Formats: sequence, structure tokens, C-alpha cells
Amino acid sequence: MQVYEAPLRDMRFVIHELFNNEKYGQDGFGKLEALEEFSPDLVDAILEEAAKVAQEVLLPLNRSGDIEGCTLENGVVRTPKGFKEAYDMFREGGWCALASDPQWGGQGLPEAVNKMTEEMICSANLSFSLYPGLTHGGTTAIEAYASDELKQFYLPRMVSGDWSGTMCLTEPHCGTDLGMLRTKVVPQDDGSYKVSGAKIFISAGEHDLTENIVHLVLARLPDAPAGVKGISLFLVPKYLPKDDGTPGPANGVSVAAIEHKMGLKASATCQLNFDDSIGWLVGRPNKGMEAMFKMMNTERVSVGIQGLGIGEAAYQSAVYYAKERLQGRSLSGVKNPSGPADPIIVHPDVRRMLMTMRAYNEGCRALGAWVSRALDAEKHATDPEVKQGAEDFIALMTPVVKALFTDLGHESANLAVQVYGGHGYIAESGVEQYARDARIAMIYEGTNGIQALDLVGRKMPAHMGRYLRSFFHPVSQFIEATKGDAQFGRMVEALEKAFGALQLSTGTIAQKGMKDPEEAAAAATDYLRLMGLVAMAYCFAKSAMIARDELGSGTEDAAFYKAKLATAQFYFDRILPQATAAFLAIKAGKGSMMALDEAAF
Ligand SMILES: Cc1cc2nc3c(=O)[nH]c(=O)nc-3n(C[C@H](O)[C@H](O)[C@H](O)COP(=O)(O)OP(=O)(O)OC[C@H]3O[C@@H](n4cnc5c(N)ncnc54)[C@H](O)[C@@H]3O)c2cc1C
Repeated sequence: MQVYEAPLRDMRFVIHELFNNEKYGQDGFGKLEALEEFSPDLVDAILEEAAKVAQEVLLPLNRSGDIEGCTLENGVVRTPKGFKEAYDMFREGGWCALASDPQWGGQGLPEAVNKMTEEMICSANLSFSLYPGLTHGGTTAIEAYASDELKQFYLPRMVSGDWSGTMCLTEPHCGTDLGMLRTKVVPQDDGSYKVSGAKIFISAGEHDLTENIVHLVLARLPDAPAGVKGISLFLVPKYLPKDDGTPGPANGVSVAAIEHKMGLKASATCQLNFDDSIGWLVGRPNKGMEAMFKMMNTERVSVGIQGLGIGEAAYQSAVYYAKERLQGRSLSGVKNPSGPADPIIVHPDVRRMLMTMRAYNEGCRALGAWVSRALDAEKHATDPEVKQGAEDFIALMTPVVKALFTDLGHESANLAVQVYGGHGYIAESGVEQYARDARIAMIYEGTNGIQALDLVGRKMPAHMGRYLRSFFHPVSQFIEATKGDAQFGRMVEALEKAFGALQLSTGTIAQKGMKDPEEAAAAATDYLRLMGLVAMAYCFAKSAMIARDELGSGTEDAAFYKAKLATAQFYFDRILPQATAAFLAIKAGKGSMMALDEAAF
């Protein structure tokens, strides 16, 4: 059964207690004056309201949306029953505008609040999350690269959610390798362009939720250089708007089909044809990838949050079932004497699965909050050094958040199916939907393999390792400061060992990769996992110390802090050892991976 209650207590912990903690190190980029008006009480109140929207409006539409899916009739795509009403409510409640700049009608909230809200929406209804999610991503590219005229006209309408957005990259013959894309544009005398070509897999490409849709389309100018150096970005509305913003004539964008997919059924994934559609250049000619990356980087962090959202929903649904389902007796003595059997939550193997999911979720939430702090500092810090540090940290962690969170989210969804046994495989249980829905997050916005290549190929060597230092520095400072901790010294030693393995691997990859790029590529996925494991270990060690201090000071919330300690200990006992496996795999190099001739496969 799909049950979900927003984990508000843990969210409050990571937002208010974990970072910028004076005792355990300044890793939160300091206080930001621009966000001081958002007091802890205000932040908590917003999160509580967001929880209501997720639980009461979006969750009830999750399974019905999965069953009904989207439909295409006479070129019109319809979202499942209830989606339009839910979207209107969402838009009118100002939820589309949370993180956007107030100059465009946004609320300018701290990113942590935005990301926690995204997590709740994704837990409740992943398909729904894509409609406002892509729009927000689109606004970031327009804000950074479009002309003032385009910004003034489009941003307020998109930020409010009156109009939605898409990103149109993929074509039938190219997904990862966008250098091959063929969509063409022809410049017009009035400064606009005519865009023609076919795009596939376009999320929210057509739907009935908004009166207009703003497509951001990658295409080639005439005589553009071959490959990615010849790609430009264009803004193409579904309807050409009149001066007052009301929809004018259709703009030659048609839906050839909607995709029939493994999951995410209530999200309309469309094949779109652009036929002499009028568009406007965003950014400079042939620099479209630069502008699109602005959107993609925003979206990559958000896709990571999708993984966390599904992981949390899967965990809660599994806990619910593990307490209800009676099978077998506890090995340590009967726990439910009045019943025919004990609930399966008594069994160590079921506990293993539940604790794994719990630790993944809490670890990812903490790391996500750290990255959110950096996103805020990037925007609002007044000290250029802090700003630079934040930018470096975001650049480094974006592929980690995207790939780690979605891998773990999918693993959690799989574990939830396992906790339900055969019933988990049956649609009525609701948890198989999580496994199907979560799967795509490992693929879109650049597959997780591509994220790992981005980490080792671009982020690791950038500016002689400067991005790495934004992460390594606070971790090593923390280790130095807490090594002798009476209670958690061993935890810190384990963190130090994993961190050492990460540093050693960094050197190995840099060295081997210089001579043979295939060596770096062969190590990439394990390296990304190792970095994610170390980052979560750091967050958990610190969480454990904060929890210990709170318990020592007689907190009224002892149950929460005791659970935090137990989860942190489980992470160190049962999950961090994966770091050794990743380290050994990296050390082994590409040899056996590349040994077979292609013909032998
Ligand atoms: C439901 C859904 C929604 C989507 N939404 C959108 C959207 O809104 N807009 C949009 O433009 N696209 C969208 N996509 C497309 C998505 O982003 C692509 O599917 C994805 O980027 C992968 O491209 P591909 O499918 O062509 O796979 P390919 O590029 O063919 O890759 C196949 C495999 O090869 C690997 N691979 C490829 N090149 C390399 C390399 N150089 N090194 C190592 N491994 C490599 C990949 O990691 C992958 O495992 C969506 C897709 C789906 C299914």
C-alpha cells in the first residue's frame, strides 16, 4: 500500500541543525543575510503546508494516474483524471514559484525549502512532479541567457506556472551524443527563426494543464560547425502569444505520439514535430549547450531528489507492511503471542532491508541539504571566496547527487518490493509502481554512467583539483577535529579510512587517466559511488555527534535523536564497507573489463 507522511522532523534536522554547526565545523557556507527573513519558524510552516499538498492532493492521484496514464486524441494529450484540478490548485497556491527570483514573481525561498518540497512532491507523485519541475528548469536557462525582451515576457508567466516548459534535446538517433542532432533553423528577417525537426521522449511535451507550453529546443543554424560546437538553443512556444500574453495561432508544434513506458505513466512523454515553428535564440549562436547546461544542471540535482523522494515513499510503504504482515516467529522469542505469527519486522533480514532504505534516505537528504546550502550561497553570498567555494561544490556534487540518489532510490524501491514478497510484485500493493517509476531517473538528464564520466573527466581535474578541495577540505577538518571523540572515535576512523581510499583513488585515476583515458572511464562509476559513500559517512558521523549532544542535554525529542544514532551506526556497520569494494574495483583498472574481443560477446 502506498503510504506517505512527509519526514518533517528529519527535514528540520538537516536544515536547522546539521550544517553551519559551530561545534563541528563551518561547512554550510556561513550565514546569508539575504535569506535571514526566512526564520526557522517560517521555514517549518512552509514545509508543513507543502506536506499537506503532497499527502492530501498529490498522493491520492499517484496510483490512479499510473493506471489511467496519459492519452492522445486528435493531437491533444490528456493527463489522467484529477491532474488538471491538482495542477490548478498547486499553481494557485504559489507552489510553482517557490525558488524563483521575486523579480519574476517567485518567492525566492532558500533552496533547502525548495528541494525538501520537491522531495515531498516526488514521494507523493513522481509523474506530477515533472510538469512544474521542467518549467522551473526552463526558467533558469531563460533567466541566465535569454534577451531582456524574452525574459520580461516569458519568465513571469512560467514562474507563476500559467505556462509550462520543456527541454527538447533528444532525437531518434541521438540522446547522449547530442553532437549528432539534426533539428534545423532558418533565420528570418525580423530576427526570429523557423525551427524544423523531430524530437522524441519530450517530458510534458504536450498536455492539458496549462494554456501555453514553452519549448527550449536545441537545433542547428545553417552552416553551423559539426558536432556540439554547432548547436544553438531556441525558445519555441506552442502557441504564438499575442501582446497581452493570451494564446495566438498554433506554432507548428505537433505530437506524433506519446510513449508507452515502463513507469511514470501520468507524465506525458511525447514525440514532437516542429514544422517551421517560430522561435527565438536563447544565448549566443552555436553556444546552445552552454545555455542548456544551465537548465540541465538544475534538473540534474532535481532528478537526484526524485530518487530520494521515491526512496522515502518506498521505505514508508515497506515499514507499514512489515508491521502488518504476520509470518513466522521471531528467533529471539514470540513477539505477538495472541496472533498466529509475528509481524515480519521482527526478522533480521527484513530489518536489514528497512534499515538500508532508511540509511540511504537520511544520508541522501543530508547531502542534498548541503548542496542546497551551496546553491543559496552561489546566489546570495557577498564574500567572493564563499561564492566561489559554493560554485565549486555544486559543480562537483551535481553528478554525485544525480547518480547516487537515483541509484539508491531505485535500490530502495526494489527492496520495498522484496519486503512485500509476492504481494510486492502484484500491482495492488502499489510498491511495484515505485520500482517502475524510479527506473527512469537513472537514465534521463544524462545516464548515471555519463554522470560518472562528468565527475572524473571534467569535475575532478578542473582547475587543478579546485572543485575537489571544496569537499575534501571540510571533511578533513572534521576528521582532525573529532578523531579523539570518546564515543565516536571509531566512526571517525572509518570515515578517515574511506576518505583515504577516495583520495588515493583520485590520484590513481588522475595518473592512469592521463596515459589512457579508458582507465579513468573504467573507474568512473565506482569512483562516483565512493565519493557518495564518503559524503554520506561525513553527514552521518556529524549527525551522530549532534544527536549525542542533544540526548546529553536532556532533549524532549529523545526518540528522534536515538533513532538518528542507530541509523548512523547502521550506516557505518553495513553500508560504508561498500567503500572498500569500490576502492578495490578502481584499483583493479580496466584490464578484465576490456579484455574480451567484441566478437566474444
Ligand atoms: C521517460 C523519459 C523522459 C525523457 N524526457 C526527456 C526530455 O524531457 N527531454 C529530452 O530531450 N530527453 C528526454 N529523455 C531522453 C533521455 O534524456 C535519454 O534517453 C538519455 O539521455 C539517454 O539517451 P539515449 O536514450 O539515446 O541512450 P544512448 O545515448 O543511446 O545510450 C545508451 C547507453 O550507452 C551509454 N553511453 C552512451 N554514450 C556513452 C559514452 N560516451 N560513454 C559511456 N557510455 C555511453 C549510456 O550511458 C547508455 O547506458 C527522456 C527519456 C525518457 C525515457
